[in-house]
Amino acid sequence: MSNLTDVKVIKDIVSRFEFKFSKGLGQNFLINPSVCPKMAEICGAREDSGVLEIGPGIGVLTRELAKRAKKVASIEIDNRLIAVLKETLAGFDNVTVVNDDVLKVDLHELIRREFSGMKVAVCANLPYYITTPGILRLLESRLPVDNITVMVQKEVAQRLCASPGTRESGAVTVAVNYFCEPSIAFYVSKGSFFPAPKVDSAVINLKLREKPAVEVPDEKLFFDIVKAGFAQRRKTLANALKGGLGFDREAVEKALFMSGLSERVRVEELDLHELALLCNNLRGIIGGRV
Ligand code: SAM
Repeated sequence: MSNLTDVKVIKDIVSRFEFKFSKGLGQNFLINPSVCPKMAEICGAREDSGVLEIGPGIGVLTRELAKRAKKVASIEIDNRLIAVLKETLAGFDNVTVVNDDVLKVDLHELIRREFSGMKVAVCANLPYYITTPGILRLLESRLPVDNITVMVQKEVAQRLCASPGTRESGAVTVAVNYFCEPSIAFYVSKGSFFPAPKVDSAVINLKLREKPAVEVPDEKLFFDIVKAGFAQRRKTLANALKGGLGFDREAVEKALFMSGLSERVRVEELDLHELALLCNNLRGIIGGRV
């Protein structure tokens, strides 16, 4: 079986299939042989589990997943790669390649169809342009998965895995920490890819919580507050919510006071519990959804 981390093998595939790398689709293929086995181990691929892969490329990670898992389903948007995958994954009868866009496909249906009765992990070397929307889509749709193990840009990894209430945090940090226990598994240098991207990467592991980290009766209001707060993160939260959501400043200041928080506080200073308390107090004052 050809070695898909060998640049000569990749170049041979590229030339035989007349393939041209698409920057827009984030096509940087892994050539560091130690990365894919580690990712497959970290996501917990085992003989009784299923793995959903996003963007198999020429199948280098897919093979490591297929060696360990009962079933692998890989979603690849680029139809030029489907013929390549047919060749590189020949011999693996536990892999289904789906030619579709991960941002559009019905993932719940796909999981039901492909992984009935199995514990499922998501494992991927994500194209850069879909990192945040892709991860948020998986989390917000409450996909029934055990963990999400993905390679992302180093800086994005640091933001995703930051603690809410720190300067490194963003709206996506709050969402990730609300649904998961996030951690950075390891860093990967740009030289580990062909062609090499401009930035270094990191593999993160998002372990899904059984229930969200904090209780918020109105999840939409919670995330509206978080998004409006971070959209104007340098402003006080009272100002950001007035500007972003049209909330009455007095109501926000009252909710801040009830939550034991300063009226000068900014969203990036609040941890998950403080954000939840504020949201729940504000909901009491404004009477539910606005
Ligand atoms: N897994 C391979 C590897 O590690 O070498 C390829 C990873 S490459 C960074 C990202 C892959 O995602 C490419 O194969 C690209 O065509 C695919 N891709 C990009 N956008 C996608 C989308 N919206 N849905 C599914 N696959 C996508």
